[in-house]
Amino acid sequence: MILPGATLGMLGGGQLGRMFTTAAQTMGYKVIVLDPDTNSPAGIIADQHICAKYDDESTLINLANACDAITTEFENIPATTLAFLESKTVVHPSSSALAKTQNRIVEKEFIASLGIPVAPFLAIRSESDIDVIKDKIQFPAILKLANFGYDGKGQVVCQGPDDVKQAFENLEQAECVLEQRINLEREVSTVLARSQIGDITNFPVAENVHINGILHSTAVPSVITEQQTETVIEMADKIAEGLDYVGTMAVEFFISKEGDILANEIAPRPHNSGHFTLDACETSQFEQQVRMLCNLPSGNCKLASPVVMINILGDVWGNFEPNWIELLSIPNNKLHLYGKLQARVGRKMGHFNVLAPSTEQAMDIAEHSFEQLKAN
Ligand code: ATP
Ligand code: MG
Repeated sequence: MILPGATLGMLGGGQLGRMFTTAAQTMGYKVIVLDPDTNSPAGIIADQHICAKYDDESTLINLANACDAITTEFENIPATTLAFLESKTVVHPSSSALAKTQNRIVEKEFIASLGIPVAPFLAIRSESDIDVIKDKIQFPAILKLANFGYDGKGQVVCQGPDDVKQAFENLEQAECVLEQRINLEREVSTVLARSQIGDITNFPVAENVHINGILHSTAVPSVITEQQTETVIEMADKIAEGLDYVGTMAVEFFISKEGDILANEIAPRPHNSGHFTLDACETSQFEQQVRMLCNLPSGNCKLASPVVMINILGDVWGNFEPNWIELLSIPNNKLHLYGKLQARVGRKMGHFNVLAPSTEQAMDIAEHSFEQLKAN
């Protein structure tokens, strides 16, 4: 076990890194954050911020020397960076697990290889791949960049092969997947923690609403059936085992109108849809990340109260600071802001959790409080 007083390294300085840093510092660890941004949410609260690129070898050597263990908050850290650090200190998750989640084609093929259903998809690497798609996929379909996509960026809905050609051109012929658009009944996700000896603890399954491809709200418990809950958890655990994953991770799922459960994406880190755990579970997903990294026993994941989380995007700012007063006047609203200096449309600035006797009540309060934010 790596005990309090030790130094932990975090690759990436975003909000997920910030909440890890808070959890680690609360437990008495020191945290060094590596992020090229001078003003990153995690960098500004860490014990030390190393402002450098993720592939700078002398920086990585210094980081490995200073840290008892290193983890990440961001799947686009080069897998080669993790592999280099692995040769020098404790690193979780592994470079090989991370590599399987960095490219949508590799990721989907890996999930399918475990016998877990995914939305029908085709790899699009050149124009000639588009010439032969007819009859191989149903339209509408979504063309997605295979690398570096997040929050629905780099995704285009296509009605037929001509649209795909145009969209592929617009994406500068970068590697893509073309994925059948699923008739969604609902979207759910689950966060889990897997230890170094392979024990898994699952947080409750969460139900998510996305607006324009960006997570808007998460409600827990979800209204899905016990059978569906079991299936989702089984699939997520199988993915974690297949990756030989160590740490906190999440899997997003689609539930189709036809009742199919399809795995959408793996997040090799805590997940936005797991932020409810900060206030509604005995252990948060970030404390769990610290525990797994340090080889401590996993914390209790039990839900203490129904909860709704709502994301606060930069859209809420407009010309003025949001109206926080109403939101903060409700005692069971828990506000989390990430310390980002600039609000931009679509940028995740913070979130709040609402605890209530039922998710319906929590949702009413949450949506009302959210509306009031814009009342300035
Ligand atoms: P993030 O990493 O932030 O989750 P992303 O850019 O990787 O985002 P996806 O998870 O692929 O994006 O898609 C974002 C959202 O867009 C999904 O949660 C869903 O609401 C919608 N979406 C994506 N693909 C499909 C699909 N095949 N059928 C129906 N809806 C989809
Ligand atoms: Mg997603």
